[in-house]
Amino acid sequence: MARPQTNAAVASQSYHESLATALASVLPSQRLIRDPLRTLAYGTDASFYRLIPQVVAIVDSEAELQELLRLARMYGTPVTFRAAGTSLSGQAVTDSVLAVLGEGWNGVAISDDASSIRLKPGVIGAEANRRLAPYGRKIGPDPASINACKVGGIAANNASGMCCGTSQNSYRTLASMRIIFADGTLLDTGDAQSRADFAASHRHFLRKLSEMGEATRADTPLAERIHRKFSIKNTCGYSLNALVDFEDPFDILQHLIIGSEGTLGFISEITYRTVPEYADKASALILFPSVVDACEGVIRLKRTPVAAVELMDRASLRSVDDKPGMPDFIRGLAADATALLVETRAEDHEHLAAHIQQITAALAGLPTLFPVEFTDKPAEFERLWNIRKGLFPSVGAMRDVGTTVIIEDIAFPIESLAAATGALQHLFVEYGYGDSIIFGHALEGNLHFVITPDLGQPQEVDRYACFMDALCDLVVGRFDGALKAEHGTGRNIAPFVEREWGEQAYRLMREIKALFDPENLLNPGVILNDDKQVHLKNLKPLPPADPSVDKCMECGFCERMCPSQGLTLTPRQRIVGWREISRLAAIGETTNQGELRSLYAYQGLDTCAACGLCAMACPVGIDTGILTRVVRAEDRSDTDRRIGNWVADHFGLATRATRAGLGGAQVARRLAGDAILDKWSKTLRRLSGDRTPQWIDSMPTAATFKPVAAPNGDARPAVVYFPSCASRTMGPAAGDPETDILPAKTASLLEKAGYRVIYPQGLDNLCCGQPFDSKGLKDVADRKTEEVRAALAAASRDGELPIVSDTSPCSYRLQALPQRLRPIDIVEFIHDRLLARLTLHKRPDAVALHVTCSGRKMGLEGKMKAIAAACSDTVVVPDGVGCCGWAGDKGFTTPELNAHALRSLKDSLPVDCSAGYSSSRTCEIGLSKHADLPYRSIVYLVDSCSTGG
Ligand SMILES: Cc1cc2nc3c(=O)[nH]c(=O)nc-3n(C[C@H](O)[C@H](O)[C@H](O)COP(=O)(O)OP(=O)(O)OC[C@H]3O[C@@H](n4cnc5c(N)ncnc54)[C@H](O)[C@@H]3O)c2cc1C
Ligand code: SF4
Ligand code: SF4
Repeated sequence: MARPQTNAAVASQSYHESLATALASVLPSQRLIRDPLRTLAYGTDASFYRLIPQVVAIVDSEAELQELLRLARMYGTPVTFRAAGTSLSGQAVTDSVLAVLGEGWNGVAISDDASSIRLKPGVIGAEANRRLAPYGRKIGPDPASINACKVGGIAANNASGMCCGTSQNSYRTLASMRIIFADGTLLDTGDAQSRADFAASHRHFLRKLSEMGEATRADTPLAERIHRKFSIKNTCGYSLNALVDFEDPFDILQHLIIGSEGTLGFISEITYRTVPEYADKASALILFPSVVDACEGVIRLKRTPVAAVELMDRASLRSVDDKPGMPDFIRGLAADATALLVETRAEDHEHLAAHIQQITAALAGLPTLFPVEFTDKPAEFERLWNIRKGLFPSVGAMRDVGTTVIIEDIAFPIESLAAATGALQHLFVEYGYGDSIIFGHALEGNLHFVITPDLGQPQEVDRYACFMDALCDLVVGRFDGALKAEHGTGRNIAPFVEREWGEQAYRLMREIKALFDPENLLNPGVILNDDKQVHLKNLKPLPPADPSVDKCMECGFCERMCPSQGLTLTPRQRIVGWREISRLAAIGETTNQGELRSLYAYQGLDTCAACGLCAMACPVGIDTGILTRVVRAEDRSDTDRRIGNWVADHFGLATRATRAGLGGAQVARRLAGDAILDKWSKTLRRLSGDRTPQWIDSMPTAATFKPVAAPNGDARPAVVYFPSCASRTMGPAAGDPETDILPAKTASLLEKAGYRVIYPQGLDNLCCGQPFDSKGLKDVADRKTEEVRAALAAASRDGELPIVSDTSPCSYRLQALPQRLRPIDIVEFIHDRLLARLTLHKRPDAVALHVTCSGRKMGLEGKMKAIAAACSDTVVVPDGVGCCGWAGDKGFTTPELNAHALRSLKDSLPVDCSAGYSSSRTCEIGLSKHADLPYRSIVYLVDSCSTGG
């Protein structure tokens, strides 16, 4: 199809069809997404806008991206880049082509002296810092979202946070960049040859940039205005400071790319100059009687060695004063009280003490409600910072269902901060946002406020529209501040950019866009937009879906935790999908709902491991696995329930059948071999529509366990041992040099450590209930848990004796029992009670660890590592492996989830690693398969390295 003759911002659907067809020969099918569920899901970022892309292309390399841009030019289809999708201003959404960073963009290279770091755009900010930590360095930009957001988004938004200010953001710490322009040209500004080639091919482009720079620098009022506006944080419009700060056109262009929100070019690599990360830190929460006093404090602190100064108004403090661990004095504060949370950092103790002295002296004479006291004790320090970190989640969690969390981000010259804060507070009252809270990075004049309107109501949208106009008058008209300090312009502030910057500067921005992207293909409508109402369009609905997820703000922080990210959906995307299905159900629409539901069955339900790891990263603690179980329960038929109840009632029989099955499988293996069984099971799965299990060569042997009661009169301390149903039925894999089954090994270890082992009665019938719960059979699961409770109560003399469980998922589920009957997980028991009773001899080889999801949720990672470190000098916890995706039995029924979750495992293990250790027999099946090494319980490791006493 011929290319359209216009600069169309929205190409017609047929051009998207043509583009998708052409892309199909470039990208594998799983990286080219067009179905209605996933395009909807990918259409979501953390902002309150929603556009549904026609094509989602997951790109993995520069060549793929260049080809995508070539096709986009050919068909006139705009392209929006997507990193982690945590943007708040609507800059990472599109109704055209969404180019999502795939796994090919995770490269990290640190210079020898760690003074610089080369990063691919898909690296999560916190990962870059984790790699730099051993050198005492970090990257400059520090958005609060750093655990989730990626370098491409950090640089393209010029994101910043509490400490980086305007001196350590991407703009200031940029060393060089690889850029792919709209015309497909690749430039590496750090490479002389690449610059020379570019200079030859883009002579006009560079000359034009140089001229723009010269003209801007020569225009003193404009140059001064640009300087002044960037002396505080500002991400409204393009980084015009590039035109006044630099003369070299390469410097100008790469600094213009910073903060350009994917509208000028694609960042395929960035090299940052790193900044020191000092270990010595101290913080103080300083309470002032009024906002005026607090802001006077900010002005004084600006001249002192502070790393961060966070302002919190009275409403902010009130929003968290009932949270656990909050200092009591917060509750009794007067209405005008304002807090500054101050942090200072130094290379050593002496410098830290000097900093504290300087800061305290600077504040002398200012009224404070309590004396200024710094603490360098980690626990106290953390308690203070938890106040600040809890603000946004607390508003998110308190809001009504259906409302949107809007976090605004403005900046004022700090001399105006007090007046501006007061004026803002009045504005909230005037527009009926009385519950709003104000907090922010005061040192840079940057304030955030959070409002929670119900944008599903037209009158609420009108109110928001009037409020935004008034806000613009206040920020720009009255205080000459910035409408976006760090979150980027997006669609939210695009209508106001000209108002903030004035006609001349705005014209310059238009020239820049036209120069870089003459066909307006890169993220059109973002940063510059002629539609003065664009900030009120394409608002995202947040309909009620299920109480377990209704507080979701769609921030995306949970995505990196999910084993199905990149295979099917992420937790955020599951919620987005289910919200839409619920919305359609509520209005009685059936056609689209039916289609979404049928896609959701696999994308949403079958491939969710229900591991709950998402909750660990969620600011409001949402476990999307709960939603999955709720929906699975709704989908359960009466027959499913009858079967579930029958299995629960005949559990002993069911475990015997499992043993027989495992025994039979081993006979079949001896007769046919792994390769043939693998082939047969694949064929059978295909014929049965994936209803039969996949053969796995690390399949366990059958375990037969007969508890042996301790002799009467045994005076050793007693422990009740609850072996899980999995460890009672599944032995080591055939071919594993370890042949003892786990309960026998555990009992022997407990005895070696001087314990007398007692077993609950009726063990054969006991199950913690987890397998039933994860299948959506909650009632059956609860019944089984109750049976375990009764058995443990009897065996432990109602909690007098300690109880140990050998399988972390079961230990985790049994945390629901009364405290005295809660089993101690085997990892904790070994660490806390056994290590001191054993003599350990380190083994020479490396050991790999897999901390189960339940282990993580119970906070056992540290203890597990400590146990392993007592057994070997080389302990490896592979990066990038979280939930293994086995999920009880999904490794058999949905093996692709397990394979996807463990795709990087094998390559991350050292060559001298002979075994891996974990604490869940079922997870170990998949781990063994994908690592090509036996994985066993950590009990085997400790047993192999220990002797009694
Ligand atoms: C709860 C919460 C707190 C936040 N706190 C902060 C904060 O403290 N400070 C702050 O600054 N921001 C904050 N943000 C906003 C956001 O997290 C950051 O701006 C972040 O840097 C965005 O990164 P991302 O990986 O999510 O990028 P995305 O949202 O995916 O993309 C951001 C922009 O960059 C473009 N882009 C992405 N990759 C590339 C590339 N390779 N080349 C060119 N363009 C690209 C996109 O098109 C888009 O315009 C917060 C967000 C949330 C939800
Ligand atoms: S579940 Fe939590 S972390 Fe995930 S998108 Fe929703 S609010 Fe954010
Ligand atoms: S429960 Fe686990 S698999 Fe399911 S959405 Fe959350 S992280 Fe993903």
